[in-house]
Amino acid sequence: MKNINRRKFLGISALVGTGAIVSPQIAVSAKEDTSKKKEKSSITTRILGKTGIEVPILSMGVMRADNPAVVRAAYNSGLTHFDTAHGYQNGKNEEMLGVFFKDKDRSTFTIATKGKANLKSDNFEQEYEELLNTSLRRLQMDYVDIFYTHAVEDMGVLNDPRLIKILKKFKEDGKIKHIGFSTHANKPGQIDEAIATGIYEVCLISYNFKLGILPELNAAIQRGVDAGIGFVAMKTMAGGVEDAQGNKKVDGAACLRWAWQNPNITTAIPGFTSFDLLDNCLEAAHSPELKRSDIEYLAGLQKKELLYCQNCGNCVSQCTKHLPIPTIMRAYMYNYGYKYPSLSKETLGELSVTGNDCSGCRTCTVNCPSGFKVADKIAAITPIVNVPSYFLT
Ligand code: SF4
Ligand code: SF4
Repeated sequence: MKNINRRKFLGISALVGTGAIVSPQIAVSAKEDTSKKKEKSSITTRILGKTGIEVPILSMGVMRADNPAVVRAAYNSGLTHFDTAHGYQNGKNEEMLGVFFKDKDRSTFTIATKGKANLKSDNFEQEYEELLNTSLRRLQMDYVDIFYTHAVEDMGVLNDPRLIKILKKFKEDGKIKHIGFSTHANKPGQIDEAIATGIYEVCLISYNFKLGILPELNAAIQRGVDAGIGFVAMKTMAGGVEDAQGNKKVDGAACLRWAWQNPNITTAIPGFTSFDLLDNCLEAAHSPELKRSDIEYLAGLQKKELLYCQNCGNCVSQCTKHLPIPTIMRAYMYNYGYKYPSLSKETLGELSVTGNDCSGCRTCTVNCPSGFKVADKIAAITPIVNVPSYFLT
């Protein structure tokens, strides 16, 4: 077993740097090779909290991938954990995984999917179960390994008695192996709320070098780990591009190596969509120690605006209309950073945004610590809600 504690991890990292553990000869290329059989991963693994799942530190966020050959290359390169969601690509993402994994040995991979909990609905329980059943049908599976309540933003959701009851039922019925939640907002508070319920086993959390609340967040993650929760990192590349216009991609390998230095992060789920991006992630996974050049590169990025909104929430009280700016900024990142306009539209649609709410404001009163000109970004992204879905990818 290659699960490791912090001291051991740093020691192994140093050895990896000398080539003593992973030599260039056994580094795996991401190029598709359909003749390959599934081999034991040579990538460092960690254990996902009390789930007991042993998983390589690199997993695949399938979200934007629509080429099954990239999924196959990831699987053949030793990745074992694949992350999707009920809403990704209007269900086509789960369908693609269902076709790909149909003839694979179920013990060679784990699947996580996510579903948004509409607790405002009187029929919440029935609707949530139908959502999960639809996901299982698309995936052509009897169960998923992890089911996340998707994008929990408000406090009081994770400990809602109706949510807890239905999640327990899913598990008792054998439709899900482990209960999780994903969150971008109020992260330390959400973790503590999850710990208090005692039912959550996995937390999918945005985690990157740009986060302003790192000491507070790391302390909350430690409390979660002590309670048996496993942590999976998303948004490790802080939006994926180096400039606010989304023209230059970040060095994903440096971002991943930074995230893995926290031994409490079991695995990361970068959303690579091409062989080249997979190769970049694999290069990091086979050499996970943080390099001096990574530190210098990330320090340079710290000074740039990028597209990642910290979700600090400061802007909401400053805004005269109390707009849900953090989520609008996430929609902006999906479009300009991820080049995923349909997810951007979907995210704004959930907020019931119908157009540019800033248009009646003479001056913007928001002062964002990340330097975002929020009114400009809102004006740039909100027109997408009126673009017919069939024009968007
Ligand atoms: S103040 Fe800036 S960084 Fe903070 S939530 Fe608002 S837009 Fe995001
Ligand atoms: S311009 Fe937009 S973001 Fe700024 S205060 Fe007005 S409504 Fe809020």
